[in-house]
Amino acid sequence: MLAANGVLTPEVLIIGGGPGGYVAAIRAGQLGLDTVLVDGDRLGGTCLIRGCIPSKALIHVAGLYDEMVKAAGEKGRYGIHLGAAPSLDFAATIGWKNGVVERLSNGVSGLLRKARVNVVSGWAKFSDAKTCHVETVEGVITIRPEHVILATGSRPVELPFLPFGGKVISSTQALELTEVPKRLVVVGAGYIGMELGIAFAKLGAELVIVEAQDRILPLYDTTLTNPVRKWLERHGVVLHLGSKVNGISGDNLNIETALGERLALPADKVLVTVGRKPHTEGWGCEAMALAMDGRFVKVDDRCATATTNVWAIGDLVGEPMLAHKASAQGEMVAEIIAGHKRRFDPAAIPAVCFTEPEIVSVGLDVAGEQHVTGQFPFQANGRALSMDSGDDGGFVRTIADRQSGRILGIQAVGKHISELAGEFTALIEMGATLDDMAGVIHAHPTLGEAAHESALKALGRALHI
Ligand code: FAD
Ligand code: NAD
Repeated sequence: MLAANGVLTPEVLIIGGGPGGYVAAIRAGQLGLDTVLVDGDRLGGTCLIRGCIPSKALIHVAGLYDEMVKAAGEKGRYGIHLGAAPSLDFAATIGWKNGVVERLSNGVSGLLRKARVNVVSGWAKFSDAKTCHVETVEGVITIRPEHVILATGSRPVELPFLPFGGKVISSTQALELTEVPKRLVVVGAGYIGMELGIAFAKLGAELVIVEAQDRILPLYDTTLTNPVRKWLERHGVVLHLGSKVNGISGDNLNIETALGERLALPADKVLVTVGRKPHTEGWGCEAMALAMDGRFVKVDDRCATATTNVWAIGDLVGEPMLAHKASAQGEMVAEIIAGHKRRFDPAAIPAVCFTEPEIVSVGLDVAGEQHVTGQFPFQANGRALSMDSGDDGGFVRTIADRQSGRILGIQAVGKHISELAGEFTALIEMGATLDDMAGVIHAHPTLGEAAHESALKALGRALHI
């Protein structure tokens, strides 16, 4: 809605076109709300432009290349012998990845158009909670909405003694490189460091990982991360756990190991992936009288902030900083504004790490006396063996309440198992018991049969082990 004074006065103004903001906008539009979405960048946010999608595109190519390199080796692979080693035009790989990103970003534009959302391209700044100024190429537009949804996302954390620039790069630059670095040092063995580090190792980089804690992927228990660690060992990746980075000098990254030894690690690129922080600066957050929860904007279980009719979602409001959480909150807030009764109270939010092998964790991951656990290895699953993915130590583990049999958590590690995350989450969200899970006929041969068997195992009647 355009007021007489040239000020836009929509029912809903959304700042940020990432998976939180653009999903909120689509849903608001579907519900007939007059909606404006503002983003200063291309539509899609961190997820589509410089996060989930480009990283998974790179991981895909890295996997193919790695297979081809193996097939070109003396022994070949599955009877396949490549006459010569494959060659990699990494600039073309990045070009292909950019095409995927472009296609999805354009897809988001189309969906917003279909939902009759007014998209304004420019950087937003609030002068108070309900007055927003957007710098566009045509000049400044002022917007005074009834409701504001803040979805400004997050930014990479920079280490003060290792600022981004030169050979020190964040995930954003790592996804834009035109050459595979010969020697790559990754600082931080969390989600991004492990996913991208492994991809670059498959693409031929000599990989060294420096992690402050005493294990990789500290978010997951070591039973789940052991197969990943074994992959790193088998592929000559050097791990410095419990180590401290001191800074960079010339070609070297200087670190202090857990044993107090000072090392200079030669590096062509240093990828710093030590976490992300909510994007709360430079857009007038302080002018909106919002309450904070540490670095995050504080919200209640409806994603309402401390200021009336100002809502906040996604990475801006806390962990887990995952795209699907942002989208679920965005959809919910749009419905609340339209008058629906909703709360953000999921039984579980799935976490997937696209390492080699992949890790999925949904719900409770530590079993106590009151729980029963069933674990089934992919080594005994026909589909895993037929895809040559049964021998990497992978398994599915189901944790249930001992008395009621209600499933509280399911984890898995193995090649291709990210696609099982939906089944695991659905079982927990729908309150399924071990008997329910055991009663579901799983198609043969599929990896899902291992999930079925893990429930049977917890019930004491596994069939294939
Ligand atoms: P964002 O996606 O960060 O979007 C925020 C948007 O707001 C941006 O487009 C920005 O331009 C815009 N914006 C900010 N300020 C302003 C302003 N003042 N004016 C106008 N526009 C503004 N998550 C997963 O679930 N799975 C994965 O596999 C995964 N992989 C990842 C890989 C990498 C390398 C990275 C970096 C992240 C990954 N994530 C993954 C995390 C995921 O990208 C984020 O959780 C998700 O994008 C958060 O969504 P959001 O909508 O809250 O914010
Ligand atoms: P992270 O929180 O996953 O991992 C950061 C790692 O850096 C931790 O292991 C931490 O101990 C380590 N660290 C911190 N300071 C350090 C230091 N000074 N020296 C050495 N190590 C240090 O953070 P990330 O990998 O940057 O990813 C950010 C967020 O993006 C994730 O938390 C996740 O929410 C999201 N993400 C999700 C996916 C996915 O869902 N598959 C993929 C990528 C990113």
